[in-house]
Amino acid sequence: MSILAVLQEIVGAEHVLVAEQAQAYLTDWRGRYTGKAQAVVRPGSVEEVAKVVKTCLQYDIPVVPQGGNTGLCGGATPNNKGDAIVVLLTRLNQVLEIDTDNDTITVQAGCILQSVQEAAAKAGRLFPLSLAAEGSCTIGGNLATNAGGTQVLRYGNARDLALGLQVVTADGEIWDGLRGLRKDNTGYDLRNLYIGSEGTLGIITAATLKLYPQPVAKCTALLALDDIDAAVKMLSRARSGFGASLTGFELMSNYCLTSVTKLFPQQKMPFEGPSLESEWYALLEISDSESAGHARERFELVVGEAIEAGEVQDAVIAESIQQSKDLWHLRESIPLAEAEIGKGIKHDVSIPVSRIAEFVAKTNELLQASFPGVRHIIFGHLGDGNLHYNVGAPLGQEEGFLSRQKEIYEVVHNSVHAFNGSISAEHGVGQLKKDLLPNYKSAVELSLMRKIKRALDPNGIMNPGKVINSVDI
Ligand code: FAD
Repeated sequence: MSILAVLQEIVGAEHVLVAEQAQAYLTDWRGRYTGKAQAVVRPGSVEEVAKVVKTCLQYDIPVVPQGGNTGLCGGATPNNKGDAIVVLLTRLNQVLEIDTDNDTITVQAGCILQSVQEAAAKAGRLFPLSLAAEGSCTIGGNLATNAGGTQVLRYGNARDLALGLQVVTADGEIWDGLRGLRKDNTGYDLRNLYIGSEGTLGIITAATLKLYPQPVAKCTALLALDDIDAAVKMLSRARSGFGASLTGFELMSNYCLTSVTKLFPQQKMPFEGPSLESEWYALLEISDSESAGHARERFELVVGEAIEAGEVQDAVIAESIQQSKDLWHLRESIPLAEAEIGKGIKHDVSIPVSRIAEFVAKTNELLQASFPGVRHIIFGHLGDGNLHYNVGAPLGQEEGFLSRQKEIYEVVHNSVHAFNGSISAEHGVGQLKKDLLPNYKSAVELSLMRKIKRALDPNGIMNPGKVINSVDI
């Protein structure tokens, strides 16, 4: 019997997509990778996922898990051999349980992130993971890539929000680890091996996640700053002034925001006069558990002190929910503006916060020395030390610029390494950065990773060619 016939028996013929029907799942979100597969299979239950994996194991066929296909490292795209089966998790989209006394929500892996946020809100709770792809990405994909987003400095990344997992292992067994426990010291931490493994060790089919109280009020402001040092000082001030209420601190260069307002004229900077010329801006948000008035009072006090100390040049505090949304919209439009400016070379890196100003100055200088005129498109989650340090072609020299990716990667990533940073802060490794890992991880670390891969996926069927090879090649 052919593998496709077996898979049709397991999930139903209408859920085995081939040829044209499969195409949309074979190219990544950025359109940088296109692969081939025998079929895209949509199981409807954890048991079906397990049977699909067992069948692939029996036929020695690679399995590529896929959620919302919004990943930015090509992790969910099969290679070009054409033998793989893409396992799409989107039919596993049920909220299984909300336990408000335990402050947990248990959901299937194919739930869209936004629907998990909405289910939590309906129960009067907050599920705080938030990122621009939340209308399309799935919880399984968020956990598989250990996604970050805009509220990590307060609530942590996807790993920090997960208490339990259900996983179909590479042997096609079901591991039910859906425990909603904050304390569980009973041996090796399997949950945290699967989180961030980008589908290379098994398939996450459900998760028990932490919930938090809904904030009563939020206060958002855009700050104009002279330099990154001032932003770091303001971050420190905000951390001690707001404590756990600080939920957002995003850094954006003038070039980023000017590009947004030029390309999307309906979006406006809230400043006038010299503040429009500031080199840097920060978007600051606090969540308050008392009232809007209390939030505003605390906000004005801390930001007022920063202005008096000369750390902040100007500040606009949102007067309404709409104005707060508009400020976030400016931030979230930067990637869209980038796409309009022309394809750039992107780096998702993290650096100790205290060294970010020095890192940016040094790396800008190194790049200008080797590639005069390149544009620096820098923004990110400053509170997490996470920068999207992107490099655009010199004006008028866009043609062929992407072919210089390898050289530019080398300059930027070597600099990140010299500052004791990470070459992938929140997007993962996938196929994009797999071959770079050996340059920036020690032989011991790589060897341990390979041993884990071989132990949990001895036949090497799980998402081959992503993150790390099973053997040293
Ligand atoms: P996919 O893209 O389908 O898959 C991603 C990886 O996970 C692949 O390796 C895949 O094989 C694996 N995978 C998927 N589902 C499973 C599963 N159930 N079990 C095992 N493995 C699985 N990321 C951030 O961290 N922070 C951001 O602020 C952020 N902003 C973004 C903004 C935009 C506009 C976009 C397009 C992406 C952004 N991302 C961000 C990238 C982010 O990683 C993804 O959006 C999301 O986490 C991936 O979820 P997905 O369901 O789309 O996964």
